[in-house]
Amino acid sequence: RQYNFNDDIWEAAPDGQIIRIGQNENPYGPGPMARKAMMDAVINSNRYPSELATQLRERIAKAYNLTKDHVLLGAGSSELLGNTAALAAEKKGSNAVSGDPTFRLWFGAAELFGLSIKKVPLTQDKVHDLDAMLKAMDAQTSMVYVVNPHNPTGTIVADSEMQSFAEKVTAKCLLLLDEAYTEYAGTTSLAPMVANNKNLVVAKTFSKIHGMAGARVGFVLAHPDTIKKLAAYQPWANAGPSAVSLAGALAAMDDLAFMQQTRQKNEAVRNYVTKEMNQLGLKVIPSYTSFIYYDSAAFKGDLAQVMTQANIMGVRTYENGSSWRRTSIGTMEEMQQFIKVLKANM
Ligand code: PLP
Repeated sequence: RQYNFNDDIWEAAPDGQIIRIGQNENPYGPGPMARKAMMDAVINSNRYPSELATQLRERIAKAYNLTKDHVLLGAGSSELLGNTAALAAEKKGSNAVSGDPTFRLWFGAAELFGLSIKKVPLTQDKVHDLDAMLKAMDAQTSMVYVVNPHNPTGTIVADSEMQSFAEKVTAKCLLLLDEAYTEYAGTTSLAPMVANNKNLVVAKTFSKIHGMAGARVGFVLAHPDTIKKLAAYQPWANAGPSAVSLAGALAAMDDLAFMQQTRQKNEAVRNYVTKEMNQLGLKVIPSYTSFIYYDSAAFKGDLAQVMTQANIMGVRTYENGSSWRRTSIGTMEEMQQFIKVLKANM
């Protein structure tokens, strides 16, 4: 059993034996309504699910006061981050401005298509440095990528700042705004802005608050003209998620009780972990998400190795050579075990 830290791949991790706190999965999901809908939908798996895809697009659109033509579905939102980078790369010799560290899954696609990445360090407090990002933009910048709330650091940019930044960036080029964790933070989605803005692409996912990472459903919201351009990078537009996953996603959107429970449990466990770690002298950045970012300098050994030996997978590095680490918030039992192993090895 080995976690490959370079390739973001979990190898041979038999369920139940390993505490998985490395990929910001929701340990409580899928919610009861999604589970039932998915079980009921298995029987329909012989048919292509075009109607269901349209229904989900309509349901998503309704939530943001948009139409289905503003919605593109993918097998997870990471696929669509790659497509947006491909669109940005259509302008030859262009670059994308991004925070550093950030969620990097689209970097490979960007580089493959010839889009170079200008990395702008976060502030001391591990927040996106929006002014520095604006300054980093040049005539060749075709896309800016911002994750709010941010991954891996769990910090947020205030709604008003985000909005004015979005207006400035989209006057010049695409802004890919990744809102994978908005529902944990209570920040406001900028999605309604896409109605009148062709340069804003908002990416969202069912993998986090809805607890459906394995179902692979994500989407972007953008102006219909922009959606058409992005859809050209899918051989068959909107056809990524399966009938079962689409049915689950549709039901999940109505399961407000599950979302609320996830938020409450996540916050309670996150507070517990933060307090325990601070008491051990490990500085934790206040988090608005389902994971924490902390300075492990006070831990003298190899934290990732110690945890791996205890069958806990989830101490990850995003800044080469630094002692900053990210760990997801699992259940209370899982995190009590994490703290126990930490204390025993301090
Ligand atoms: N964006 C961010 C910031 C994420 O953290 C993740 C998953 O960890 C994703 C996008 C992609 O999620 P998915 O491809 O499962 O929809």
